[in-house]
Parts: sequence; C-alpha cells; structure tokens
Amino acid sequence: MKLSIIKNAKISVKLTLIYAFMFSLVLLILSTVTLYGTKYFLYKQADKQVNDISTVLTNKINDETGELSLYNKDFLADLPSKENISIRLLDNNNNIINQSRDFNYNIKFNETNDKTKHLEQKEKHLIYLNTKLDSKNYGVVYIQVVKDLENEYSFIKILFVFLAIADFIGMVASIVLGYIISKKMLNPIDNITKTAENISVNNLKERIEVNDSDDELKRLASTLNNMIDRLQKAFDSQSQFVSDASHELRTPIAVIQGYANLLDRWGKNDKEALEKSIYGIKLEAENMANLVEKLLFLAKGDALTQVVEKKKFHLNKLIDEVLEETKLIDKKHNIFSEENEDADIYGDYKLIKQMLRIFIDNSIKFTPDEGTITINSMVKNKSLYISVSDTGIGIPKDDIQNVFDRFYTVDKSRSKEKGGTGLGLSIAKWIADVHGGIIEVVSEEGIGTSFIVKLDLSE
Ligand code: ATP
Ligand code: MG
Repeated sequence: MKLSIIKNAKISVKLTLIYAFMFSLVLLILSTVTLYGTKYFLYKQADKQVNDISTVLTNKINDETGELSLYNKDFLADLPSKENISIRLLDNNNNIINQSRDFNYNIKFNETNDKTKHLEQKEKHLIYLNTKLDSKNYGVVYIQVVKDLENEYSFIKILFVFLAIADFIGMVASIVLGYIISKKMLNPIDNITKTAENISVNNLKERIEVNDSDDELKRLASTLNNMIDRLQKAFDSQSQFVSDASHELRTPIAVIQGYANLLDRWGKNDKEALEKSIYGIKLEAENMANLVEKLLFLAKGDALTQVVEKKKFHLNKLIDEVLEETKLIDKKHNIFSEENEDADIYGDYKLIKQMLRIFIDNSIKFTPDEGTITINSMVKNKSLYISVSDTGIGIPKDDIQNVFDRFYTVDKSRSKEKGGTGLGLSIAKWIADVHGGIIEVVSEEGIGTSFIVKLDLSE
C-alpha cells in the first residue's frame, strides 16, 4: 500500500523523498559521531585528571619533608576542587584519615586495581580511582579520587539539543529545497507535455521550447521537435499530393463535361460533332483511368499495402519480353538491345517490368521519330545494371534532380500534349526502392537520356 503510493507519486516527489532520506541519514550519522566523539573525549580527559591527581597525592604522601601532616584539614586544600574532584584517604582499618570538604559519596574500597571506574549513583555520573599506597610515614593509605561528571554531562546534553535542532532544520530544509529544485528541474517536462497536448494534425506549427543547458531534457525536446518536423513534412506532402491529384483530375472531367454539352446541343443531328465528342470522351476517360491507376499505385505504396511478390527469375528473359512488346507497339523508333547478360535476380517480376515500361514509355514520348532506344543489362561487381537509353530531347540539368518528384514534368506544355502526368518516374523510384536499387540519370539536352538502375545481386 505504502509502496504503491510512492510508486505512483510524481517524479519530483520521489526525488525529494530520496534526497531528503539520504540527507537526513548523513545528518544523523554525523550527529551521532559528533556526540559519541565528544563524550569519549570528555571521558578521556576526566580519566586523565583523576589519574594525575592520584599521582600528585601519592607523591605528596611519600614526600618526607612534607610540612603538613596527612591528618591536617589543609592537606588537601591545594588540590583542585573546581573540576568537581573530591578526595578521601582511609587507613588500613577503613577509618577516614582525611577527605575533601564536600565529599559525600559512598564508594566501596574493595578493589584497588589502579584503574578508573565509572559509576552511576543517585542520577550522578561519577568516575573514580582507588589506589593503595604503602607509605613510609603513615603505613598503608587508601586513596580515593572521585570526579563528578556533571559538567561534562550537561555539556553533552546541550550539544545533543543543538544537534537535534540543527538536524530537524536540515531535514525540513532538505525536503523543501529538494522539492523546489526537483520541481524546477522537471519543469521542462511539463512544458513538453503541454505542447504535445496542443499539437494535432491541424496544428503542427507548435514546437517545444528548447532550454539552454545541454542536458537530457534538451535532447528529448529537440528529438520531439525533429519528429514533429518530419510529421509536418509528411502531412504537407500528403496534402500537396491530394491537391495535385484533384487538380489533375479536374482537367479531364472538364473536357468530358465540355464534350457532353456539345453532344447535348449538336450531337443528335451533327454526325461530325458526335464522332469528335465520342473520340474526345474516350481519350479523356482513358487518361483519367491511367491517372487513377497511378494514383492508386502510389497510395498503396505509401500505405505499404502494395503487394510485392519477390522470387528468383532470369532478367534477360524479361528484357527480351519487354523488347518484343515495345517493338509491336512502337514502329517509329529503332529499338534494340546491345548487351543482355544472363543474370538471376530476386524481385517482383511484374513490378520490374512496370519500371522498365515507365522508362521506355518516356523514351518513346521524348524521342523524335527514327530515334534510337537501347535496353541493356550487364553484371559488374555483384551488381546488375539495367539501362534504358534514348537519343531524345534530353532533360535540362536543373530539372534532373526533380524528375522523380510526383507530378513533376519538365515543361508543362511539352508533357501535356503527350498526356504526361509526371507520376511515371515516381512510381519507378518506388519500385527501385522496394528492391533496394538506385536509379541514376544521365542526360544531355538535344543528345539523349539514360536511366540506369543498379540492383544488388548478392541476395
Ligand atoms: P507519366 O509518365 O505519368 O505519363 P511523364 O512521363 O510526364 O508522365 P515522368 O515519367 O515521371 O512523367 O517523367 C517526368 C518528366 O521527366 C517528364 O515529364 C519529362 O519531362 C522528363 N523525362 C523523363 N524521361 C525522359 C526522357 N527519356 N527524355 C526526356 N525527358 C524525360
Ligand atoms: Mg513517364
């Protein structure tokens, strides 16, 4: 139960608890060590005092030139009483020879082993030393030196109270400061959450504030910002694609509507208008079907639902097939293959054929009659190179990098009259990507164009 409360607590609370716990532990250990150290030191000192006084007494009793008799009251007068030290001297028969004025302890003399003892009597802490002395002047004398540790204990008590107060203040401060600091440090996370809540498909403009310090939270914030950038790009290109597609469809629909109106007005009687309209409608419908087919292909490609059935096949067979078909359709160009190396490739037969058709269609479209179209394939360094080259009008240098973009046509007018939508090469690129291939374009205006696909053979 308690554990789950901690588990579900905010990170700032958790950090504070851990921090406060560690800090308090350190404080407690320090205080304990200080207290016990002081106590030990005070004991040692008291011990030394008692021993010293005992030694002084022994010397004084043994001193034969002593002016004062052992029995004289003043014998003990010059011994320090400020230090809470009291002395009692006994003879062999346990009779008191002499004692300090305020001596009121009752400590037995049964053991005299020259070692200080600790005693608790009537809530008093005492330290005492019993010594037996065989003196020349007075025979056997028992010396008892007692020190009352009252001052020492009250010092320790005061120290304890001060330490306890300091510890308490320290703990409270560690909790308060810990909470404030961790809260402040985790503030960026709150910011990130708030910004993320505001971000939606319709509002990808917001970005998370990136703070100056180069820490993990800054990395998180910039990673998220980069992600939003990519999302925004994807959404932008998606909506661009939709608007381009609608734009492309608008033209054939307008044309079909125009012919329908023509038919409506004149077509019933005018045979020429009828035939013209039917031809026009058929052509535009075909264009539209073509366009929709391509759009569908790209949409499936984007959604990763395009079916790709890869298997091993002979590429030279495919090229022969495409070559034959092209020759059948197009009689206006010289179409042939100079080199068609036999190679087994792993891929989707239909898609690769479609890709080659896209290049060949372009070559046919953009090469004047009697021009040459060459389809070659060769193997080099474990890679297969398929090239479709023509002697056509070529692509301007500045446009080469864009020809694979969707709906991109070099010159709107020169493509339009040939029925180009600018989608062919973007489909070809998608097919090459799916096969891990690269398409290279070599082109010069007025001389010709080559599309070269490089495919890996290692698979
Ligand atoms: P679609 O193929 O969709 O019917 P398209 O042929 O215009 O239309 P892409 O195949 O993508 O579109 O080609 C893009 C543009 O690149 C073409 O419009 C054309 O300007 C240029 N292009 C492509 N291949 C050649 C080529 N062999 N010779 C000259 N220009 C070319
Ligand atoms: Mg094309």
